[in-house]
Amino acid sequence: MKKLVFASNNSHKLTEIRAILESKFTIISLSDLNCTDDIPETANTLDGNALLKAQYIYNKFGFNCFADDTGLEVEALNGEPGVFSARYAGEDNNAQNNINKLLSELGSNPNRNAQFRTVIALIEDGDVNYFEGKVEGKISYKPAGNDGFGYDPVFVPNGMDRSFAELSTYDKNRISHRALAVRKLAEYLGL
Ligand code: IMP
Repeated sequence: MKKLVFASNNSHKLTEIRAILESKFTIISLSDLNCTDDIPETANTLDGNALLKAQYIYNKFGFNCFADDTGLEVEALNGEPGVFSARYAGEDNNAQNNINKLLSELGSNPNRNAQFRTVIALIEDGDVNYFEGKVEGKISYKPAGNDGFGYDPVFVPNGMDRSFAELSTYDKNRISHRALAVRKLAEYLGL
């Protein structure tokens, strides 16, 4: 089976991505490479950060690899937190604090429209390709569900009445931003 490095140690992302690619690829994580480096994410676009992560691993290990960067873009907040989604709450930027900040910024604003957008950068023998996936939905007034990660408890995809955190990996992968980007990657890789 072909091997591909996914430049992340996020176990939730790994589970989602392996579920889609595992029939054709062995996905190697950074912990499989014993890499615990804090990889810089200093670009101001999702494409830029995805490339920084993939480039770092390609330069350090020489393996073909891909990385993703995701942002939650909220209409009433002019697209914020966007590329700053991970650091939205500042110093104490865990998922709970990020969600609290998001809900307090939105307050009782009735415009709850938002989208998750993922960009994957793939580096193969030095060549770079990008794949994008988006899912539209609404920010709920309070968190619900225990599965998933990050902003999942407050994101309700359009056409559903449950948050991403109330869906199984299987169901999230049928519609999610990352799954759509990964399927484009898989198509490009000839799966
Ligand atoms: P990054 O792509 O790991 O930099 O993620 C940026 C921010 O978005 C972090 O706060 C993540 O927790 C959050 N995030 C990324 N993907 C998802 C997702 O699928 N659901 C919910 N939050 C996510």
